[in-house]
This record gives sequence, structure tokens and C-alpha cells, in this order.
Amino acid sequence: MPPWVSKLVLITRSGASYSALAGVVLALGWLARSLEAVPAVIIRPWELDSAPLVIVDAGHGGQDGGAVAGGLIEKNLSLKLAQKLRDQLQDLGMRVKMTRDRDVFIELEERSQIAKQAKATLFVSLHLNTSETASVHGIETYYAEQKSLSARGGQGGSPGRNASEWLARSVQLQACLGSKAEDRGIKAKNYAVVTHTPCPAVLVECGFLTHADEVAKLKQSEYQAALTQGIAKGVVEFIQSQPARPAGHLERNSPSGTEPEVKLEVQNP
Ligand SMILES: [Zn+2]
Repeated sequence: MPPWVSKLVLITRSGASYSALAGVVLALGWLARSLEAVPAVIIRPWELDSAPLVIVDAGHGGQDGGAVAGGLIEKNLSLKLAQKLRDQLQDLGMRVKMTRDRDVFIELEERSQIAKQAKATLFVSLHLNTSETASVHGIETYYAEQKSLSARGGQGGSPGRNASEWLARSVQLQACLGSKAEDRGIKAKNYAVVTHTPCPAVLVECGFLTHADEVAKLKQSEYQAALTQGIAKGVVEFIQSQPARPAGHLERNSPSGTEPEVKLEVQNP
């Protein structure tokens, strides 16, 4: 990228107004003419040091291998997908923190704590599915039916189910468009990691290891990249849609302390 393009990116990243940017471009007419020849500059609505922080959670790890099917162990593929997603989100200008970036066991509680302590913008957990029915395939995305009291106990409460539901919709749609996998929809279920995480959180079941064609695709680096690129796009669309959404969408849950603690459906998918 030529240095002036980097400069332009810095200008847009630093929050300069569009009119100021237009002034720069007009003042340098020759530059404007050459703009068509370079890739589009991504204008981001945040400054570099305050970019959204996404927690990418690779499911399972260490002694917890997760599902084993189709010649794959879930913990290994979830990590590979998580690393790809991390790189793609960083390329889009976001900050990313992984709950694990190697084959290590991490308690579910700790994964939520990482998001809480980092004051993350949102949380994405990646898993692989299995079924006793070999013909079942596709992607499904889970969000918490209700956040736990601990997740809602922060200052001023926390984004409720609705924000997570919006995130789930966005991620599910783009993951399916990117991978062309079957869309199995979004589902509300109190999986531990999404329930205890204060920020909007989703758990993506990225495909079935028990489906012959799907597992064959999941082994391909190109397919993995298309799938995680879709998830990354869903994340960006969710973040960019936030200011336009009425505040009520983020505050549907009751204030903390007024409801009994939610029951977790299962500890780990
Ligand atoms: Zn899993």
C-alpha cells in the first residue's frame, strides 16, 4: 500500500469527519483521480485505541477434546477456526483476545471471566457439532435465553438477551452465506459460556463432524477461511448496527438481583 493510502486510512481511523476527508481529497485532485485504482479504504467508526474488543473462544482444549468424529477432534478444529477468525477480525481493525491459542484446558467459568475482565465488546465461541443421524448438517448459533446474575451484576447492568440475539442473527446469516452451509437457525439455550459472559455472546456450532460431506469441507483450509470470514462479517455488521438500534433493545433484562439465578441447560456442547 503506498504511504499516502496509509495516511488516508489513518485519517479515517482517527475519526476525522467525512467533510474534512473530502477536503483533503479535493485539495489533492491528482490523488482523487488515482483513488479508483486502489482498493477501497475501509472507514471504521472507531479510533485505533478504542477499537471493539472481541473475545474469540475456541471450544474445549487439553483433556477435554470435545466431539470426536470424521477423523477430527473438535478441540483441534475449533482452535484452527478461532485462529483464522482472530486474524480476520484483526484485519478488519478490531482488537481480539483468545481464551486459548494452544491445546490447553480452560474451565468454562474462566472463559467468561476473561471476557468480563477485559470489558469485551462481544464474545464468540466456536464449536463443532455431532448427530446420531448421519444426514444432519449445517450451522446453528446459540445465545443465552437469559444472562446469569453474575453476568448482569456489572455497573449499570449489561446488554441482555436481545443484543446477543441480534449478534446471533447476524453471525448465523453471514456464516451461512460465507460457507454456503445449511442454515439451521439461531437458538436460545443457556450454555455456560454465553450465559455467564456479560457482553453480547454467541456460540457457533460450525458444522457436523458426523456428516461425510460437511466434515470433508471442514478439513479444507479454504472452507475454514470462508466460514470464519462470514462470522467476522456478522460481527462487524452487528457492531456497526449498534448505534442505530433503539436503546431498549439492549436493556430488556431486569435489573440485577431481582430474579432467581438462571439454570444452565448443559455445561458444554
Ligand atoms: Zn463443543
